Amino acid sequence: MDDYLIIGGGVIGTFVAHELAPKGSTRLIEKEADLSQIQTTHNSALVHSPVLITPDKGELKARFAMEGNRYYHDNAEKLGVSVLKNGAYLIAKTDEEMDHAKEYLASAKARGITEAKLLSGAAMMIAEPNLKDDIKGGLDLPTAMTADTYELSKTLEKAATGEGCKFHYEETVTAIEAVDDGFKVTTSKATYIAKHVINAAGVYAEKIAQLIEKDVPYKTLPHRGEYYVLSPKARGWIEKTLFPMPNKITKGILVIPQPNGTIRLGPTSTLQDSLTDDTVTESGLQSVQSGVEDLVKSIPMEYVIDTYVGIRATIDYHDFYIKRSKEYPNFIHVAGIDSPGVTAAPAIARYVSEDILANK
Ligand SMILES: Cc1cc2nc3c(=O)[nH]c(=O)nc-3n(C[C@H](O)[C@H](O)[C@H](O)COP(=O)(O)OP(=O)(O)OC[C@H]3O[C@@H](n4cnc5c(N)ncnc54)[C@H](O)[C@@H]3O)c2cc1C
Repeated sequence: MDDYLIIGGGVIGTFVAHELAPKGSTRLIEKEADLSQIQTTHNSALVHSPVLITPDKGELKARFAMEGNRYYHDNAEKLGVSVLKNGAYLIAKTDEEMDHAKEYLASAKARGITEAKLLSGAAMMIAEPNLKDDIKGGLDLPTAMTADTYELSKTLEKAATGEGCKFHYEETVTAIEAVDDGFKVTTSKATYIAKHVINAAGVYAEKIAQLIEKDVPYKTLPHRGEYYVLSPKARGWIEKTLFPMPNKITKGILVIPQPNGTIRLGPTSTLQDSLTDDTVTESGLQSVQSGVEDLVKSIPMEYVIDTYVGIRATIDYHDFYIKRSKEYPNFIHVAGIDSPGVTAAPAIARYVSEDILANK
């Protein structure tokens, strides 16, 4: 019998494996042929500044974004993970948006976050001459950065494997049954017995929970996000990650330079029924283009090399849902891990290990 069986090898499952492997026998089951092929690589790959992840977006999200941002700054390069420590600008185009920028600044200060600084439009234009001329100003967010999320997962896998963790690929979990002292987990290839099951299946978390629980306490609301990718030939066009002023629902359409020199533009945010439909749409790409055109003078579209869709694992709960199952307390839900899940992942893994599993 294993101590821990983790379902899902995205950034959350691999961070949890890395955290739990030194504490007990651990196994991770992934349905794809490799780690992090779903949400974790179809996103913006931003390690967010905690300034923009305010507690009204979820207490755990705000707390873990702060802790996670610190973790990446201290550890990513030591682990050998490629990062781009380029910082971000939050852009205000009207007096009202400047007031919002000041509110973010005040909220950050109240939470002990002192990194952000108010900038004039003129100061922003000196650093980023390709910004649009009508920018009023905004916030400088120096701790925002991007990370190679695939490399991150593989690095964590290597360390966890060194601690005895077993990783299984191309195995889909199809059934879970409560047995004496644990669970029988059936996959497309084998059956395993484990004391604890950690459900880190991303957008499929509700489906996995339905295999064992009668009343799953959340519903999935998959939100698609569409992107353009510019080739490294566009390097230098924009150096910082650019955010428009977020609204209540989304952070808006961003410009996001990556560690490998590419630049991602996006994402949109649209609710869809399907967990899997990742077809790029003309209208989605048009929204991306016009969103970016609100921030910059022009986009070097001649350098577009790719487009893609990521599907957010959003649920109808106001925060990450990280709790023991009420029916089967050794089944742990790690659900609703949408943005800022990459940023929060190291803190989520620590929370699962030290707060949830350590306290019954
Ligand atoms: C458009 C978009 C933009 C985002 N931007 C950012 C950002 O800039 N910064 C940030 O911090 N966060 C961002 N996020 C959020 C972040 O990407 C996610 O929170 C994070 O990747 C979630 O990781 P995960 O491991 O929970 O999910 P996933 O990466 O989806 O991993 C879940 C894994 O479970 C596996 N699985 C599912 N069912 C089964 C089964 N039955 N058997 C075996 N395996 C199974 C899947 O194959 C998958 O590999 C964004 C998300 C999206 C979609």
